[in-house]
Amino acid sequence: MVGHQLRAARKRTGMTLGQVAERFGGSISQLSTIESGKRELRLSELHRLADILGVAPDALLSADAPSERIALEVALEQAQAGPLYGSLGLPRIAARATMSDDVLRALLGLHEALREMHEQRAATPEEARRANAALREEMKSLDNHYEDLERIAAELLDAVGHHDGPLSRSAAADLAAHVGLSIHYVPDLPGSTRSIIDRAHGRMYLPVDEAVGRDPRVAMLQALAGHVLGLDAPATYADFLRQRVATNYLAGALLIREDSAVAFLADAKERRELAVEDLRDAFATSYESAGHRFTNLVTHHFGIPVHFVKVHASGAISKAYENDGVMFPQDVLGAVEGQTVCRNWSARRVFDAEDRFGAYHQYTDKPNGTYWCSSRIQQTSQGLFSVSVGTPFAHTKWFRGRSTPHRLTSTCPDPACCREPSAELQSRWGEAALPTPKISSSLLAALPAGSFAGADRREVLEFLDSHASD
Ligand SMILES: [Zn+2]
Repeated sequence: MVGHQLRAARKRTGMTLGQVAERFGGSISQLSTIESGKRELRLSELHRLADILGVAPDALLSADAPSERIALEVALEQAQAGPLYGSLGLPRIAARATMSDDVLRALLGLHEALREMHEQRAATPEEARRANAALREEMKSLDNHYEDLERIAAELLDAVGHHDGPLSRSAAADLAAHVGLSIHYVPDLPGSTRSIIDRAHGRMYLPVDEAVGRDPRVAMLQALAGHVLGLDAPATYADFLRQRVATNYLAGALLIREDSAVAFLADAKERRELAVEDLRDAFATSYESAGHRFTNLVTHHFGIPVHFVKVHASGAISKAYENDGVMFPQDVLGAVEGQTVCRNWSARRVFDAEDRFGAYHQYTDKPNGTYWCSSRIQQTSQGLFSVSVGTPFAHTKWFRGRSTPHRLTSTCPDPACCREPSAELQSRWGEAALPTPKISSSLLAALPAGSFAGADRREVLEFLDSHASD
């Protein structure tokens, strides 16, 4: 720091290195090495230099940066001296006088972003992120419509004679029988599982007691889907995600049959009354299942781009899909799950709506255009979530709820939108507040240990063993 103070002091006097060197009795290069901090200074030399420059010796020893410019230079030097930058094998850049402050700020900003990315990367395995991003892109490019899975669902439903409307529990059981599975409800299903299939004996085990608010058909259909698709224990995180998407998709396609749903939606569109809750009611599913299925069908069959987002009461995204350009909040590596959505979005406002459990509609002016959204709250064992389906303004004419008076503006990710407190609040409470933050665990975790992706392998095998002779 002495070198920086010396250079700053010299610059304030307007003297060149040569002029100071001459009075100091040294060479220009000697003085230059002192200013760049590469040579230590004896106390007597420090006093002589302070004298030449007309400053107090103490000022030269100050640890405070003598100016913002010097602070930038020091910060750049420190950033480049760290192990992270060193590991890149790139040359160190000296802050030359010809570089503007903005150049230094840009370099420092890059260093800071590099450090942040490095930290987040260390927290979440790269493999998981890459797999998730690839799958998200694939779903988007297919408009979230998987032709082969729709075909498998139609063939299965044809086989049990189900062509229209809600899939009854007995029709679901017929499906299981059709694929060679008998259903066994047991009280001791391992807690880490929702169902287990015994392939050797053609059995499907399901819990006697179903979780509150959960559609009992869904666990059965998901297990059945895994069986029909011939899934094996996933070898990688990418496999795990892909299998989960495929089983959920096939289960949804069995629950809400494509041709039947498309006819229903076509009629609703004709009347300009498209609504996810009608699909829910027509097929007797949860709102979330209906919302999901809506995205599978509505772009592919009607050319309407949409987004779907499930948001916890805290504002954190648990599921998201879009092909309508809506910009979900992302972390620096592009992950969406776990990020907090704007307070002004319908997905958050619905929690403040007068009728919290009714349908809530809202237009939101976002930086890239106006979107209309329909949101609903659903109660789950993990708390309250909102499920929202939305579309760009140009397509709202097909939807019920388009005449809503609710209209808000969101400028997120601009921090001034809804994240930063007002200057008044900041000055009144900024010093006084001392919260204890919750540790927010990213929903994007690594493939859990054990070959059944989170299910306890030993428990599962012991379970099968104990039930094999029932
Ligand atoms: Zn916002």
